[in-house]
Amino acid sequence: MTDCLFCKIVAGTIPSTPVYEDEFVYAFLDIDPKAPFHAVVIPKKHISSADEIDSENSFLIGKVFEAIAKISRQENLEKGYRVVNNCGEDGGQTVHHIHFHLLARRNLAWPPG
Ligand code: AMP
Ligand code: ZN
Repeated sequence: MTDCLFCKIVAGTIPSTPVYEDEFVYAFLDIDPKAPFHAVVIPKKHISSADEIDSENSFLIGKVFEAIAKISRQENLEKGYRVVNNCGEDGGQTVHHIHFHLLARRNLAWPPG
């Protein structure tokens, strides 16, 4: 996907602050953090949204959550965190490469607004 912001971040043509990387997953600090710790966790392969998950690519979502557990240990998030996926227009998705917000280090209200 040549015109995708997060594909460009994976390729390194747009800079980011890395938090975690492996063969399948990249995580970086959100440019506009909504919590004291706010990372964006993505599969390196382009998937547009949660609505595009299928039997071929769903293993990548498992890899994302494996990475989140590793980031939790790496960043000492033992007090807890929230994982958020915004999907589509009503879900508030602005970047159309599936991503999971990892928010931590403050008490997060529930239900969210
Ligand atoms: P969403 O609104 O769920 O699509 O989330 C997109 C997220 O990407 C927002 O939290 C933005 O702050 C974040 N974002 C946009 N551009 C960048 C960037 N260049 N580096 C890091 N995070 C970004
Ligand atoms: Zn992409």
